[in-house]
Amino acid sequence: MNRSSDLSAYLHIPFCERKCIYCDFYSIENLSLRSEFVDVLLREIDLKLEANPELQNRELRTIFFGGGTPSLLAPNELDRIIRRLETHFRIASHCEFTLECNPGTVSLEKLTAYKSLGVNRLSFGVQSFVAEELEFLGRIHDADEARQAIDLAKRAGFDSISLDLIFGLPSQTESSLLFSLEQAIALETDHISAYNLIVERGTPLFRLVQLGKVIELDNDRAAGYYATVQETLQAAGFIQYEISNYATAEQKRAKHNLVYWDGFKEYVSFGPSAHEFIGGVRSWNVSSLEEYGKYLRNGTLPIINSERLSLEERRTEVLYVQLRSTGVRRTEFMNVFAEDLLLHPAVNDFIDDGLMIVNGDVLSLTPAGYRYCDGIVTRLMESGDRVPKQFEIASIIS
Ligand code: SF4
Repeated sequence: MNRSSDLSAYLHIPFCERKCIYCDFYSIENLSLRSEFVDVLLREIDLKLEANPELQNRELRTIFFGGGTPSLLAPNELDRIIRRLETHFRIASHCEFTLECNPGTVSLEKLTAYKSLGVNRLSFGVQSFVAEELEFLGRIHDADEARQAIDLAKRAGFDSISLDLIFGLPSQTESSLLFSLEQAIALETDHISAYNLIVERGTPLFRLVQLGKVIELDNDRAAGYYATVQETLQAAGFIQYEISNYATAEQKRAKHNLVYWDGFKEYVSFGPSAHEFIGGVRSWNVSSLEEYGKYLRNGTLPIINSERLSLEERRTEVLYVQLRSTGVRRTEFMNVFAEDLLLHPAVNDFIDDGLMIVNGDVLSLTPAGYRYCDGIVTRLMESGDRVPKQFEIASIIS
């Protein structure tokens, strides 16, 4: 397999001061287990590299600490993790190194220490600037703390700062959404992610909806809010490059997330519930800190499942992740799946309707097309005019 040496790394830090009602990411509230967790995480890094010696010395182009709340890590804990990564990987000089932060957990001292350890991008889970909405979501911070956190990040020397917003809350109005967007824009960060609230099965929010205590926003209003987000951020100079992501310039896009949305690039991961994609195989870890620790103390990797997708499954995945972001690279798609997408009967209709656009080799969605991404991919899942051809997906990772 012709594999490039560059790689991305994701590390899942599974702690939160308090669980938000909508969140289905794995995390626990028992912060006293943090130091013990760092010990087993280091063990996982060592074991994974022992089991996969071909990963040794690969160059990390992006590193992402997600969670959970990575900003609950003390700088010395983060330092231990980075040092261990450095013993196994080369870290690119221009490596994008992101750490997710909860605004209620940072100080100037902590952010300055993170910066000195090599973190060069912060992603703040702000979600809203409206007190009732933050309370509904179960966030630990208020709007002022969010503003202060961004200010502290700038004072600590960060010039790559992202801010997450959530829209489509049951109580949200067009004017409260506009207020949050304007507040976010006023903070002059270079990146904003704006996610539609999804009621995930198993969350407290899901139960509230089931009990009829919370009424979900209807589809028409949710679509209207999505258009408001797009138009407001675009008017403020942001460029949409993914369904939910906006940057002030091309070089300010989230490079780590672009790896996920590429469909072919490889990433290694560590921590409970973390997913990785190496050598054409997708694997994921157990979603329990207790089980995770048991596996590692027994000298076993905590991977509970892995899969190699069929060619047809890979085609759907590549269509979905590339269309939802920067578009499908047609020549590469043709080389792998033996299909010229421009010959697909639906594509020209989508182009005529202003939902898709061809720019050189790339077929992408327009801002209007992003609103119908799922429907468009579903339509394209029906094979077009193509000749079946057997390829090993892993072989095209270059
Ligand atoms: S802080 Fe983030 S990871 Fe933690 S529960 Fe809330 S949304 Fe989930």
